[in-house]
Amino acid sequence: MIETLPLPPLFGLIAAGAFGAVVGSFLNVCIHRLPIGSSIVWPSSACPHCTRELSWYENIPVFSFLVLRARCRTCQGPISIRYPVVEALTSALFVLAWWYLGPEPLLASRLVFGCALIVLFAVDLEHHLLPNAITLPGIVAGFAFSFFTEPGWMASLIGILAGGGVLYVVAAAYYRVRHEEGLGMGDPKMLAMIGAFLGWKLTLVTLMLASLTGSVIGLAMIAAGRGSMKYALPFGCFLAVGAAAAATVGPALLDWYLRFF
Ligand SMILES: [Zn+2]
Repeated sequence: MIETLPLPPLFGLIAAGAFGAVVGSFLNVCIHRLPIGSSIVWPSSACPHCTRELSWYENIPVFSFLVLRARCRTCQGPISIRYPVVEALTSALFVLAWWYLGPEPLLASRLVFGCALIVLFAVDLEHHLLPNAITLPGIVAGFAFSFFTEPGWMASLIGILAGGGVLYVVAAAYYRVRHEEGLGMGDPKMLAMIGAFLGWKLTLVTLMLASLTGSVIGLAMIAAGRGSMKYALPFGCFLAVGAAAAATVGPALLDWYLRFF
């Protein structure tokens, strides 16, 4: 007699990981094309050096990079390490989110949020740019999700206004005083997006973590003679890492902190 056995949890995790790697491959397309303003759906993937279209077996997440040994098959042009890193990171995001959250509305919210953070981190790192094409739809998506899951629409709305507002004031004040852009206008929009997904409390945690790690690493770079404050890592990268930390260990961190009052 054949019984239908329940699929082991391992199957779910493997499927989540594989799906995440494929999504990561699409995120790479966004990271490469958004800053140069080309379409993310057309044409299909090509080598950035010789523009030859890639065949399917050159497009397999992580594996193709390893098999091709980081070089284009035709022109020997180098393939950036960013490709496998983004694919592996997105894959890990999907596995961990599926593991911890399961089939809940929060899973969808966190996956969309995580993907947006990965794209913003990578684009800001390379181009010092936070594309509106990610941050603005991100604000809308986060607010929409908040009607079905945490943090709730009220906390989300306050998060959007507080997150966007506080960095807007900082950016505007910096510009007034120094007459140059220290903080781009992308940063307020990014923190507004974080506020939409996480609510105002975890947005404050994000801002605290980002400022703290940003100053520590910035000062360390100056001390090591690796550049002045101006050439420190872009703030969007710290916001992305801070938001990821706030989304996962933020509530525990907040509980611990509030015990001192
Ligand atoms: Zn090539």
